[in-house]
Amino acid sequence: MNRRILLILILIIALGISGCSPAKEIVEEQIQEPEENKEPEEVQPIKPVISVVTTLFPQFDFARSIGGEYIDVTLLLPPGIEAHSFEPTPQDIVKLLKADLLLYTGELMEPWIINIILNLENENVMVIDLSKNIQLIEMEEDDNDHSHTRSHDDGELDPHYWTNPNMAIIMVDTIVEAFVSIDPDNSNVYFSNGEMLKNDLVTLDQDIREVLSKTESDTIISGGHFAFGYFAKEYNLKHLSPYKGFSPNAEPSPQSITSLINTVREKKVNAIFYEELIDPKVGRTIVEETGVELLLLHGAHNLSKDEIESGITYIEIMYQNLENLKLGLGYNE
Ligand SMILES: [Zn+2]
Repeated sequence: MNRRILLILILIIALGISGCSPAKEIVEEQIQEPEENKEPEEVQPIKPVISVVTTLFPQFDFARSIGGEYIDVTLLLPPGIEAHSFEPTPQDIVKLLKADLLLYTGELMEPWIINIILNLENENVMVIDLSKNIQLIEMEEDDNDHSHTRSHDDGELDPHYWTNPNMAIIMVDTIVEAFVSIDPDNSNVYFSNGEMLKNDLVTLDQDIREVLSKTESDTIISGGHFAFGYFAKEYNLKHLSPYKGFSPNAEPSPQSITSLINTVREKKVNAIFYEELIDPKVGRTIVEETGVELLLLHGAHNLSKDEIESGITYIEIMYQNLENLKLGLGYNE
């Protein structure tokens, strides 16, 4: 190859490259252009109006149903954390200070709230006690023969009202009222979403009544701390548990476990129930001794990480509980 041809070749290549680049840019611009033109036509996501922080899962779930895109809701409890032993961190307090609304269960469930309320006094945060329109009931003495050992707990109020769907309906009304007072412009959305949720809760209540009218047993035997006092009262169920009070860290006495094992044998029960997010060691002991089934009765205080990611709702959890109650209490269709 002589020098002249080589020079021409280099020139052609150089021209080719430089000639190509602008052409490519034009092509890219032409591809991008329609996208840029499209953007203003796309449906813009609604910017959340209300920033909500909730303590437990039920109000988190109800708030997201009622508020939809109009709210930005945070569950204060980290996934998998047992609710009764939860204490907010300084970061949680910062989260609360930035919120428009804090929805909590009640001072019985969240005793730490009293200090938070004092701290929030001069802030622009609306703090709502969801038990404010609910008639709290005393923790019922169970029918087990160890009940004399729990005398010092007499008069203790039960914080778990949300396990009764009819109390959940009252919670929904309270949440709708709070949203409407903060954001009256979107009150129609909150009212109509609230009505839909309440209709589903009414259906849930009817389905529970229907199932429990066809079960052989009316006694829930729980190996853990019992969160279904309001549920049991609503649907005329009895319950037995070796635990007293609601501290999940409290250990039941060996006598009360033995007594419960005897009851399980005498009454020929199918299953005993355990609660979410706590190792059911007492339940396992009873199961090992008696051979009955161990079934989950999910109190919905909080969810595991997997449950959160699955998007499960309060109502779905209650239907799962109903399936386990069918198994545990002996359902005859
Ligand atoms: Zn509890």
